[in-house]
Amino acid sequence: MSGLRVLVGQIWQESHSFNPIPTAADDFAVERGPALIVAHRDAGSALGGILRAGEAAGVDWVPTVAARARPGGPVDEAFFAELLETMRAAGPVDAVCLELHGAMVSTAREDCEGDLLATLRAALGPDVPIAVAIDLHAQVTPAMVASSDVLVAYKTNPHADMAETGAKAFALLQRVLATGRRPARALAALPFLCRGNDETSHGPLAGLHARARDLCETTAGLLDLSVCNVHPFLEVSPLGQTVLATAETAEAADVAAREIAVALWALRDAFVQELPGMEATLRRVREEPQARPFVLGDQGDRVLSGAPGDATALARLALADFPDLRLAVPLYDPAAAAACFAAGAGAEVTLAVGGGVTPGQSPLQVTGRIRALGPGRYVHRGAYMTGVPVELGRTAVLQVGGLALLLTSRAPFVQDPAAYEAHGLPLAELDAVVAKSGYHYKLAFAGEATPVTVDTPGLSSYRLEDLPFRRGRPVHPLDPAELNTRKNLAR
Ligand SMILES: [Zn+2]
Repeated sequence: MSGLRVLVGQIWQESHSFNPIPTAADDFAVERGPALIVAHRDAGSALGGILRAGEAAGVDWVPTVAARARPGGPVDEAFFAELLETMRAAGPVDAVCLELHGAMVSTAREDCEGDLLATLRAALGPDVPIAVAIDLHAQVTPAMVASSDVLVAYKTNPHADMAETGAKAFALLQRVLATGRRPARALAALPFLCRGNDETSHGPLAGLHARARDLCETTAGLLDLSVCNVHPFLEVSPLGQTVLATAETAEAADVAAREIAVALWALRDAFVQELPGMEATLRRVREEPQARPFVLGDQGDRVLSGAPGDATALARLALADFPDLRLAVPLYDPAAAAACFAAGAGAEVTLAVGGGVTPGQSPLQVTGRIRALGPGRYVHRGAYMTGVPVELGRTAVLQVGGLALLLTSRAPFVQDPAAYEAHGLPLAELDAVVAKSGYHYKLAFAGEATPVTVDTPGLSSYRLEDLPFRRGRPVHPLDPAELNTRKNLAR
């Protein structure tokens, strides 16, 4: 491997097709050229794993660009096209190794990763091997498989094996370079969407992954089995779960993909989750003072799944029926934040807040006192995304009775106690805070608050029948649908 020129880069964003606010260039953290290697050499991401494996092998990196943003609406097409062109223009190289998410759409295209890989294949020719590490929540498309030689996904949710996945993608690339042989692949497409209960350490996926690991250990020539449980808020075709097998022979890939796909298809109705409602949850906060503070996962309006973060239902119910509770709720509303900055700290204001983006939600009329104004910056201090800084944009804290509203200028990427502490709202002074997350917030608040994920309305609720899916149908549970396995995609 020594002396081989390997193109390396990262484009990472999970898109929510139904969020009307595009993800813009300035929502991304970006490093270009050699700065990419300095920034990610020690990272716990797939890119970090790729870089460490490649350095151990002595490759000469051709660093292009690393760009990542929080989940949100489709990525601005001009920005994506510029990233794509940066990677396309980097050649000549001997090989490519990338970290991509796999569920990214732009404002003009529905398969960003497939288009990027096809562009690289066309630019570099058929002989330059391309390896990619992807997220477990990717929508793997035939175009992504056809234009790559190696495509491997995380095996855990929540994701604890990102760096390992990057290292595996690089190891399989090394194998292609050493042997000159491309692996065979088989991709099975399962047209169904998960509605929760899809963690890998327990529930239906635990047994499925155990079987997949067992197959990889005992089947001669089987190199990888990636099971992707697509993030279910994509307006794309095809849409659904995928199983991708990578093997030395087409037969080994086919047999393994088929077995896991049939097993996953049989589990399609097991991926559902019963959550407590808003009323029952707020009553619990009132009736169990010994369990306070609570942290309430706002399932329907999870910014961590790409929702806008402006749903008002929970704040509205708290003001109307639970005025005795000390609660903190983030709300995306740049106009309301600007109005608070204009009025100044300490002023009393009457405003309509939130509810401007999420369908079915309406602005909430409030009168309150501006408690604090700030730049909206915090650094994750809990066990999830530890040390990663966040920019919520100019943020106002508006106190309305017992309710503290965090009015943000960017989507409230709030799943850590530090988001509140940075705005003068320590957990100890509150009965409950709201996190814009359904699972990962539990890691961040562990030992500090009682977590309850609440069934709330919004664009990231698992009431999929409320979303306007058109492109990816038929898809279970919205329609009758059938399992389809695709054969051997080896070139
Ligand atoms: Zn994911």
